[in-house]
Amino acid sequence: MGYSSFNDVVLPVEVKNIINTLKNNGFKAYVVGGAVRDSLIGKTVYDYDITSSARPEEIIEVFKGDTIIPTGLKHGTVTVLKGGKGYEITTFRTEKGYSDLRRPDEVEFVSTLSEDLKRRDFTINAIAYNDEEGIIDLYGGLSDIKNKILRTVGDPKERFSEDALRILRALRFSSELGFFVEENTAKSLTELKNLLKSISVERVFSELVKIISGKDAERVLTEFSNVIFTVVPELEKCYKFEQRSSWHSFDVYTHIVKATAKIDNIPRLKIAAFLHDVGKPETFFVKNGEGHFYGHAEKSAITTERVLKRLKAPNRLINEVVMLVKYHDIPITPDDFTIKKRLRKFGEQTFFDIISLKLADGYAQGTDKAVAEMQKTLKVKKLAEEIIARGDCYRLSDLKLNGDDLLGLGYEGKSIGMALDRILDDVVCGNLINEREILLESAKKRIKNL
Ligand code: ATP
Ligand code: MG
Repeated sequence: MGYSSFNDVVLPVEVKNIINTLKNNGFKAYVVGGAVRDSLIGKTVYDYDITSSARPEEIIEVFKGDTIIPTGLKHGTVTVLKGGKGYEITTFRTEKGYSDLRRPDEVEFVSTLSEDLKRRDFTINAIAYNDEEGIIDLYGGLSDIKNKILRTVGDPKERFSEDALRILRALRFSSELGFFVEENTAKSLTELKNLLKSISVERVFSELVKIISGKDAERVLTEFSNVIFTVVPELEKCYKFEQRSSWHSFDVYTHIVKATAKIDNIPRLKIAAFLHDVGKPETFFVKNGEGHFYGHAEKSAITTERVLKRLKAPNRLINEVVMLVKYHDIPITPDDFTIKKRLRKFGEQTFFDIISLKLADGYAQGTDKAVAEMQKTLKVKKLAEEIIARGDCYRLSDLKLNGDDLLGLGYEGKSIGMALDRILDDVVCGNLINEREILLESAKKRIKNL
């Protein structure tokens, strides 16, 4: 189903003012790209990109009363700050020479909007708008939005060869917007997928996260799996890898894709789901006709770290994701003691992330056995929420006793940490009440047994 009508493009007052100021100084100016596209389909717009006939030095002159950031003067981009928010104004331009398949060697400023729109990647991104002239759609972008089609402006082979990042941008928009990639565009990007090897890994990573996080990730990751494997070759082994397990209805890659699509839309969770079983094929063995994957979480964690380091993901994100992958199948039974132990080991965020991953994993197994397991996991989640809401003790910092108290009782060195751990275990088990006098008494008794 496509769109039967479009929303009006309503510009914020700052954007209207910028366009009017440029116009009053004799220049043309339009909103272009994502802002027009997303306004038309009723999505929230965060960034307004403006394209103008004014040269960078002219933009600077026109806005000399405002704060200006010369973002990329060589490429014709100046950012003007209005009300604390930046608006990028880019001079009409074409791009020439793509010797590194990514950044144009040279940009050439041009005088017409039509030439500027021609260099843009997809028809849906090549629509311009201002209040005076309305929508300017020279490449059939409106009709493509209506029919939910993603198509390059001009010959797809040429456009993807000029800048291979567009291959991933195509999958990204397809996934985020739920648009189908037009046949020729799809054919060309698949043929040219190996050009992606020349693209900077940071850009690859940023697009990849958007691809796996889009609402149509399941379709895109399935339809374009071979493009995905050029940037994450580690996943190729999972493709059509039959699990021969009574827990699983799908092959490993299909399972991964379904889990990724299902999990909450938070980057660390999406990435963890996408890589959580990457190590499965290496650990596969069959016993009595049933497939097993002992140690696969550990293996997957090692591979996950390698993949994310190669893609230069931020270190903190790598640590969080590796942790989730490593522990995604740790048993957590629905009883207070186990839950508190796990809460203590992982901290709240990671604990609930593991629960989310377990639920998405279970959903993507597609068997009754897995559904029964998910019921248990939901119970764990509920109990953990209750533990936290009650303020039950499960961390050392919750204990009404600390290291200084133990020093005062004559404990020394390592024995302090060990004693605190045991006391906490007793409190968590319900053998001790978390009251200072009681804990001091218990510590006194323990020291005698040291
Ligand atoms: P979003 O901001 O939602 O990511 P967007 O369409 O605004 O989407 P940007 O990366 O902000 O994407 O780029 C703004 C516009 O610049 C695009 O809509 C497109 O017209 C053009 N553009 C960006 N990158 C490329 C590229 N690699 N090749 C050609 N045109 C591009
Ligand atoms: Mg944008």
